[in-house]
Amino acid sequence: MTTTETGATPLIDVRMIAPFERHQRIFDMLGALGHGASLIIVNDHDPRPLRAQIEMRHPGEYSWEYLQQGPDLWRVEIGRPHTSDCGCGGH
Ligand SMILES: [Zn+2]
Repeated sequence: MTTTETGATPLIDVRMIAPFERHQRIFDMLGALGHGASLIIVNDHDPRPLRAQIEMRHPGEYSWEYLQQGPDLWRVEIGRPHTSDCGCGGH
């Protein structure tokens, strides 16, 4: 059994991360994300390239939902739902 996360959803303000380490930092956090959990990415432009990278590395593993789409700020909630074969028993 897993419990629903009741605390604040982790937030990554991409603007505060140096460009050269942005994607690595985000992928580190995504990799640490438990099934059923999510995090929110904040950026000053559409982080669409990141979405493509996630889909390339982890096809179908993460969800992507825009909470805000500009014009000055983008917020995206990235979730990691259980899959049919994740084997963590949280179904
Ligand atoms: Zn699972």
